[in-house]
Amino acid sequence: MDATFLKLLEVQNQDEKIYDLNFRISQIPAKIEVKEAELQALEDSLKNAKSESLQVQAKIHDQEVAIQKCNDDIQKLYAKAETVKNNDDYRSLMDQVKDEKQKIVDIEDQELELMEALEGAKARFSEAQEVHNQNAAVVKKGIQEIRDLESGLKSELSSLKSQRDEFAGSVKDVDALRRYERLVAKEVAPGVFRKAFATVIHGACGQCHLTISADLILKAKSHPGKAMCSNCGSYLYILPETAKVE
Ligand SMILES: [Zn+2]
Repeated sequence: MDATFLKLLEVQNQDEKIYDLNFRISQIPAKIEVKEAELQALEDSLKNAKSESLQVQAKIHDQEVAIQKCNDDIQKLYAKAETVKNNDDYRSLMDQVKDEKQKIVDIEDQELELMEALEGAKARFSEAQEVHNQNAAVVKKGIQEIRDLESGLKSELSSLKSQRDEFAGSVKDVDALRRYERLVAKEVAPGVFRKAFATVIHGACGQCHLTISADLILKAKSHPGKAMCSNCGSYLYILPETAKVE
């Protein structure tokens, strides 16, 4: 067996692990984004419920100010009534008092409706608070777990990379190593590692899974890593121990 080929196969083995780690790391920001959107939604609904409650309270306050103004106006009208000289003026002032009192009644009706609305808003706020309390901590913990996973994967990646580079440094045939590196650098599909060397599995290429000819199978066995799959361009091989599986 060609010693360089066996070494390159080991480099490929490590490169595949590195590729998978990189791919998993690349998926992490999207996962965190989903969790952060969940957290944002929880906070938004809490904020909305609170502002709904505050808005209704502000309206009730405005109504109370309006009632107070009506009462002040009524007092002024009574004071004025004590100074008028004729009945017509007096009656006109009393009509105005009546109008102000009607205004108060109308405002109080609206205020009752607002009180009911406030009850509803408060109930929704406490419900949102409960949902927030229950879920925000879980989502935050989930985010932390993803970040922990990310840093674990990154440190695994960095030690694997240095192991790989050290091992690749032991490959004497530098040209063969470069050829190998050019082949694995070709993109197949996201998340799919491009193998320079593909083993033959049940008569099919281990990279593209297409059936290969009997001639190629023989060559993969006699000269592992020299016969190229005509479909995907990976170099086929059958190692003595995998030959039994084939
Ligand atoms: Zn193939």
